Amino acid sequence: MARVFNFSAGPATLPESVLAQVRDDMLDWQGSGMSVMEMSHRGPEFVSIAEQATQDLRTLLAVPDNYRILFLQGGATAQFAGVPLNLPGDRADYIVTGNWGKKAHKEAGKYLDARVAATGDDGFTSIPDQSDWDLDAASRYVHITPNETIQGVEFPNDPNLGSDVPLVADMSSNFLSRPVDVSRYGVIYAGAQKNAGPAGICMVIVRDDLLGHAAPATPMVLDWQAQLEADSMLNTPSCFAWYVCGLVFRWLLDNGGLETMAATNARKASRLYDFIDQSDFYRNPVDPAARSRMNVPFLLADDGLDKSFLSEAGEAGLSSLKGHRSVGGMRASIYNAMPEAGVEALIDFMRDFEQRNG
Ligand code: PLP
Repeated sequence: MARVFNFSAGPATLPESVLAQVRDDMLDWQGSGMSVMEMSHRGPEFVSIAEQATQDLRTLLAVPDNYRILFLQGGATAQFAGVPLNLPGDRADYIVTGNWGKKAHKEAGKYLDARVAATGDDGFTSIPDQSDWDLDAASRYVHITPNETIQGVEFPNDPNLGSDVPLVADMSSNFLSRPVDVSRYGVIYAGAQKNAGPAGICMVIVRDDLLGHAAPATPMVLDWQAQLEADSMLNTPSCFAWYVCGLVFRWLLDNGGLETMAATNARKASRLYDFIDQSDFYRNPVDPAARSRMNVPFLLADDGLDKSFLSEAGEAGLSSLKGHRSVGGMRASIYNAMPEAGVEALIDFMRDFEQRNG
């Protein structure tokens, strides 16, 4: 059966070679006579898988020695609470640039005074300039969402706060899409199911000095220090998801690492934006300086054509292009594993659809 080009925002397409490896390992992982799903998380086989994945992630992102890496459950959403619980204080600043930042801010409000220090325009089509952020020097941390998956708005680079207040980032939807200066951040967290693997696991990268301060009522599974002491295995981890993430990290390392990925991603995104911009039939509302390289939302001039666009795209082997219900239109998610050929096939289809309906 032919595979489609899958533009889903997450869970999202994975590299074919990773899926083939999973298939090959399914009945017998490296002579163990077991699949990874069936192994004890305490056994030497799984411990070696977990350690290798952690080491490979450290290499890929050039994570400095004074940062720890955790693989936790509950997705990025659990960390919306995990952040204020592990960094308790009176108040924190949130830069809200889309739906996910809004959710993170709302959840944090249960635990501290979560301030909106800056926000995008009404439709979240831009990133507020850092000089306009109304930061409170007494805040425990500043939280950003570097890529907003729904609106398709992305920070063009790593902000430099220039203060001792830790910068915390929900990197779920652009994690591993380009090199990141980890030292600019106190905490980075990212759900796996866009660029790093299957759903069910969330990576947390945290600077040493931010560990060991959790509020007393923090559930133990959300306590970063407790999880660190247990090698992220305070309870049974998402073993299978962790293993697949490890295969994705290997795939990234074998394919040139994050510099190469960044160049490919930039090429894919500009091909698609350039096509949209030269057309009167399609439109992307985001400020060009803040356009996401991962999630490209676009609207048809006549939304009465949305249905036929989606069904004909499906017939052409282009899947999951429907935009999020809160913004409508279309969204093409073009994460690392989307080949350039997928973007070209989408552009060809869009051109043909425009010629027939424009
Ligand atoms: N943050 C961002 C930027 C997302 O795109 C998502 C989407 O799934 C989430 C958080 C929520 O992640 P999870 O479903 O892993 O909790």
